[in-house]
Order: sequence, then structure tokens, then C-alpha cells
Amino acid sequence: MKTDIDLDYEVIVVGAGVAGIYQIKRLKDMGITATVLEADPDLGGTWYNNRYPGARFDSESYTYGYSFSQELLDEWHWKEMFSAQPENLEYLNFVADKFDLRQHMQFNCRVQSTIFDEDRQVWNVTLSDGRELTSRFVVLALGLLSQPTMPRMEGVEDFKGRSWHTHGWPHEHVDLSDQRVAVIGTGATAIQVIGEIADKVGELTVFQRRPNWVAPLNNSEISAEQMTEIRERYDEIFETCARTPGGFEHEPDRRGFYEVTPEERYELWDRLYDEPGFSIWLRNFREIFTDEEANAEFSEYVAQRIRGRVHDPVVAEKLVPKDHGFGVQRVPMETGYLEAYNRENVHLVDINETPLERVTETGIRTTERDYDFDIIVYATGFDAITGSFDHIDIRGRDGLTLREKWFDNPSTFLGMLVSGFPNLLMPSGPQSGSASTNYPRGIENGVNWCTDLLEYMRSRDLQYAEATEGAEERWTGHVVKMYSVMLMRKAQSWFTGYNSNVDGHEAGKVRYMVYNGGTPKYVATINDVAANNYEGIRFSLDSKVPQDVMAAG
Ligand code: NAP
Repeated sequence: MKTDIDLDYEVIVVGAGVAGIYQIKRLKDMGITATVLEADPDLGGTWYNNRYPGARFDSESYTYGYSFSQELLDEWHWKEMFSAQPENLEYLNFVADKFDLRQHMQFNCRVQSTIFDEDRQVWNVTLSDGRELTSRFVVLALGLLSQPTMPRMEGVEDFKGRSWHTHGWPHEHVDLSDQRVAVIGTGATAIQVIGEIADKVGELTVFQRRPNWVAPLNNSEISAEQMTEIRERYDEIFETCARTPGGFEHEPDRRGFYEVTPEERYELWDRLYDEPGFSIWLRNFREIFTDEEANAEFSEYVAQRIRGRVHDPVVAEKLVPKDHGFGVQRVPMETGYLEAYNRENVHLVDINETPLERVTETGIRTTERDYDFDIIVYATGFDAITGSFDHIDIRGRDGLTLREKWFDNPSTFLGMLVSGFPNLLMPSGPQSGSASTNYPRGIENGVNWCTDLLEYMRSRDLQYAEATEGAEERWTGHVVKMYSVMLMRKAQSWFTGYNSNVDGHEAGKVRYMVYNGGTPKYVATINDVAANNYEGIRFSLDSKVPQDVMAAG
């Protein structure tokens, strides 16, 4: 590529999580001068930070690992069907060490801004340690759920005990025995924490705003024999993941919901409830996601399961969601979560009945009473998908900031490029195939596509790539349209870009964050774009004159 400008790197990758690790592997193999900048003290992203008790995959471990290296597949032994955080972090370190990637990573450097310098036609990347670096390309591998959000509550700073967001759970062991612990939130994270710590704490009080539909994870250990069998099946496993909408081994039931009898439906549901992982969500009838009546019938089935597992009928009823049906938000998988509420030391506070007023020096005050705690755990979620982009000052042409451009709604081309931001790539951006699929399956596709684009440019000596406005408009329109058939559009969750703790997020307003067409369609689309000389991307030798070379799309 162009050599007349003195650059620090040809490519800067931001983020050393699952996506950044694979991205630097591909760039290293291409022989490109590249570095990864990571704000944390070490690699791992999600799996570096989320060290709360119970943190584990909801994806089958062997479908979560990278598929790009046969050697890696042969060498790594997953110990559990749904592997826990320590092993997941160990795995990512194993990958980085095996492929000697660490030397291309810089830690403890938070990217504050990345600004396209139109005169020099380079990206200027400013770091929290005061350094300024330049590169031709920036690849943002920021993760979908990496910007934690605290509740907007008075008094959070006043609490004299220990408190933290689950994303920042202390690295050292926390002895919970005899402790009075509060958990605020009942999302996928809280549901893992609560199931894990209920029998290890003194008292546990859960503050719930809206319950979530939950189903058992049904985790188990993987023996040496099973791992041998998995290794033999890897090709088949990844082929299946590539064929299914969610990038899992789970394939939807092909029968029509209304074509089978109620008895046949219940037979399927009884079976799925006992199967591991997302079976219950993704092997179900497809109408569950699109048809109110089908969804209501299945939701009632799960409600009965909840009532059957929680002894106190008043508590059970509080745990049954009333504002949304099963599966229209990300389904949290649980281990002993519902049974936790059968314990005498576990208490559920419905904050719709007794709203939270403030955090005090000694605990939490609701409209009803004061609670005293030793530890407060904020399991209050993330400013998902766009949040980590918003926290960097990203400016493209004419000083346009990505934050402004995306304020109402993100708009992208394939979830990987943005018009007005030349040479900015996002292997797992909003509206990409990664956001709604088994993440590593999605990011491998995204990283491969972005890397192929770089190779294409290198082989033709092209310097700049930018999505055209038309292509971006068409893709975003397509993403928006797909929401119209999904019941998910009616729910309030990160799938619809809502977080009550973030300015500008309005209840009931959908932000179109994820691509809902499923893995096979997404991959077919991005491959078509590549096969058609990257139709929809404008290439140039000089970013100042984008129109004069190879217009496309
Ligand atoms: P979340 O699903 O957004 O849940 C946040 C919880 O905090 C919700 O119950 C929310 O209530 C509550 N909350 C937020 N602000 C509050 C406030 N001001 N007052 C009271 N309650 C408040 O976040 P999460 O549980 O961290 O999960 C996020 C995503 O991470 C999941 O959907 C999943 O994709 C991923 N995750 C994956 C795994 C895994 O793979 N194993 C595990 C954990 C998480 P409302 O519902 O009323 O807003």
C-alpha cells in the first residue's frame, strides 16, 4: 500500500477481545504493520472483565472457540459444555500465545479519539497515555457489551460498604459468607450471579424491575472421550453453525406451529426444556418470534414451569414477565436461579411496588424501608453495541462525529463500514451479523471479510475505501425492515437499543441495532458484495477525490 506518508501503523485495531485477537492474527499473517490498542491491562475483553461468580458461556463451548486453526481445535480441551470465565480467559490467552500475538498488543492504553485527518489522509489516534499514533486504517473491535452502565440513583457514592458493577467484579477472591448482599437487576448477568451465590452468602436481596423469561442451561462436564468425539465432529459442527440463523448447532423446528397439535407442541417443549443451552429458544417453532398467539402459548408454558419450580406462589408470579413474551429479548440461561428463591436467605423485592429511592451509607432505601448491606452488586447492564463507539471521539470527513451520526439510530453498510468515515472498519459493528449470533461465529465472518477487503485493496494498490451513502441507506433500510416482522421490536432491551440509564434513550423508541436475517443470509450478502468488486464501496487512490476512481454501488 501507499508508502509516501510516514505512518506509525498501516492498521490500528482497537480492542483485544475475541474479535481483536483474531483480527491481529489475520493482519500478522498478511505481513501488515499493525497493532492492537487495549484499554485493559491484558487481553480478553468481555472475558477479562466479567469475573462475577457464575459467569460462563451460554453457547456450547466448542461452538464458541475459534474455528480458523485445526491445530488449535486439536489442542484445546473444553472442560464443560458451557465453560466458565476463568477457562474462557485461559483459552484466549492460549490462542494469543500459540500464535505469538501478544507482541502486537499494547495494554493500558485507552483510545480517546480517532480523527480522520483530511489533509494528510490518515487516522490520528489519541491515547489516554498522551500518545498520538497514525494509521491508514482503523479497525474497531470494541465488543457489543463492553460499556457498563450504572443506575441513575442518588447516593451511589455514599455507600460505605463494598459495591461494584458486575463488569468490574474484583479480580481477587471475594468472601461472601455471612455477607448481606444486594443485587440490582435481573438480566442474564444477575441471573448467573444469583444462581451461583445464593447458597454462599449470608443474605441475598434481589431488586427486580422487570423479570426475564429464563430456562435451564443444563450444563455438564466434557469428558476426554466426549472431547475426542467433538474433535472428530468439528467440521460438521462448524458447517451446522454456518447453516443456522443463530450460528449455533440449534436448528429451528421446521414444522409449522399451527400444523401440529397442542400435544405435539408440548411434547417438543418438554424435551427442549431439558436440553442444554439455547435449544429452548432456537430449536423452537419459528412462529415464536413472529406470531403473538404462538408466542403467548409458549410463554404460558414457560410460566407454568416457573410456577412449578418456585414454591411461594406470590414470588413465582413476580418472576413471570408480563410485559413481553418469551424470546423477544435475549433469553438468560440459568442454573438454580429459580430455586434460589426457595431459600430462606434469598429475598425478592419488586421495585415496581416499592421503588428504589436512593443508596444510603448503609444500604438501599426503597419507598417502603431501609435495607442494610455489606455488598451492593450492580447487575444493571450495558450501553450495548453503540455505547463503546460513543465513548471514543470518532470523527470522519468534515468533522462529522460517529456519535452524532448514530444518535437517533446507527446507520452502516453491512454493519462493517460507515459512509463519511474512510478506512474505518468494524468486524462486529451495529447491524452486522455478529450482533445477533453466536458471537465468535459472527466475528470470524466479519474479520475474514474485512481482511479480504484489505487484501483486495493491497493487490490493486487502492488506498481508501468508504461505503457510499446509497449503499449505507439501503443496508440500514433492510435492517429496519426486518424488525417489522419480529416481535422483538415491541420489547425494551438492548436488541432495540434501549437502556434506561443512558441519555437519549427513550422507552418505546426502537434503535435498529442488530441484523435479524440470520447467519446464512448475512454471509451470502457480504460474499456477494465482495464477489461484485465490493459493490457499495467507493475506492480511491486519494481520499480527497473519492469520485474519480472506481465508483461502485
Ligand atoms: P441486561 O440484560 O441489560 O440487564 C440489566 C438488568 O438491570 C435488568 O434487569 C434491568 O431492568 C436492570 N436495571 C437496569 N437499570 C436499572 C435501574 N436503574 N434500576 C433497577 N434496575 C435496573 O444486562 P446483563 O444482565 O448484563 O446482560 C446483558 C447481555 O449480556 C445479555 O443480554 C447477554 O447478551 C450478555 N450476557 C451473556 C452471558 C453469556 O453468554 N453467558 C451472560 C451474561 C450476559 P429492566 O429489564 O427493567 O431494564
